[in-house]
Amino acid sequence: MNTSLKAVPGGTKVEPNSHSAMMPTYARAELAFERGEGPWLVSTEGRRYLDFAAGIAVNVAGHAHPHLVKALTEQANKLWHVSNVYRIPEGEKLARRLTDLTFADVVFFTNSGAEALECAIKTARKYHAANGNPERYRLITFEGAFHGRTLATIAAGGQKKYLEGFGPAVEGFDQVPFGDHKAVEAAIGPETAGILVEPIQGEGGVRVLPPQCLRGLRELCDKHGILLVLDEVQSGVGRTGKLFAHEWSGITPDIMAVAKGIGGGFPIGACLATREAAKGMVAGSHGSTYGGNPLATTVGNAVLDLVTAPGFLENVSRTSLLLTQRLAELKDRFPGVIADVRGTGLLMGLKMVVPNTEFVAALRDEGLLTVGAGENVIRLIPPLIIGEAEVRAATEAIERAATKFAAKASTAA
Ligand SMILES: *Cc1c(COP(=O)(O)O)cnc(C)c1O
Repeated sequence: MNTSLKAVPGGTKVEPNSHSAMMPTYARAELAFERGEGPWLVSTEGRRYLDFAAGIAVNVAGHAHPHLVKALTEQANKLWHVSNVYRIPEGEKLARRLTDLTFADVVFFTNSGAEALECAIKTARKYHAANGNPERYRLITFEGAFHGRTLATIAAGGQKKYLEGFGPAVEGFDQVPFGDHKAVEAAIGPETAGILVEPIQGEGGVRVLPPQCLRGLRELCDKHGILLVLDEVQSGVGRTGKLFAHEWSGITPDIMAVAKGIGGGFPIGACLATREAAKGMVAGSHGSTYGGNPLATTVGNAVLDLVTAPGFLENVSRTSLLLTQRLAELKDRFPGVIADVRGTGLLMGLKMVVPNTEFVAALRDEGLLTVGAGENVIRLIPPLIIGEAEVRAATEAIERAATKFAAKASTAA
């Protein structure tokens, strides 16, 4: 085994993956980056890549965006962290802006998506406890869901591969098929606290819950006195061309988990709720040492400056339309490679005929970074600041890779 350090431009040294001191929980690509410039990443070997992975739908403003860099560095020179024992003006400002922009009245800040979900789940359970119904603690979730990797969120997601070997799953989640309204209604019982759903399943394979389905879930919740809890960790913060994906359906949830895009790359998450739904979350009921610290919430405010600027969301929708058209053309030209184009805004998926992992690797060779998802899908989740030039570059890379796969298939036949 070659264990010698490899010197790379900029002075960084990396060990071969096989010899890394990192716990091997990821099958990492043999690729590391030196710096980023907008939607582009430069590898430690000096190669440029167009980033349609964006840190898994995180870097909404691309890399090293001047407004975010300025906000972060100015705050870094003043104050990083004080704990939630004191008031944090930057956090209070971010919370007020989020509540002004959404259905919510109150916000709890976290450091990740899974923690935002933990807070959402606890808030839903506590609501019923505060109403004198502590037996109402169960949440209905959906097959193919992904809510994070903590013990409660792997139970909520219900995927065997994430649960196996980690002991008894956290109790209180009842899973039904995605979008099956009748199964949801049948699953509602005297112990049901609410319904937890992603408006678009990201990890699950870019599966869009039709707006009428989301409206149906809202009606069911109202009818049965239970809470609608949305996981917008991936679909939120402008990703679909609305600030939050549920806005396409016209309904509002009672509780919503947010993360990924809200920090633009700085780790921050948030659990948003109506004051009524959060009635049980009183002093002492929940907490986080880091959650919403001055550094994180300053960056969150800077991200909101960009996403709420006039024209930003319109650009997402315009770029999405263009990307969708190009992808549909490629699907028609390469039916033996691409089976389907799906998604909303810049949360797009290509359902592949060929193995998605192989196609992701082939795209990487062509200088385009993407991420796999369930159902043999590859996700195209670029920074939201991209435009026509990046759509062209990305679709040309897909065309080159698809041409090679199609050629391989015809020689094999
Ligand atoms: C990524 C993701 C999470 C988990 O977020 P982490 O920051 O990795 O904990 C939860 N829900 C959805 C929909 C996600 O995409």
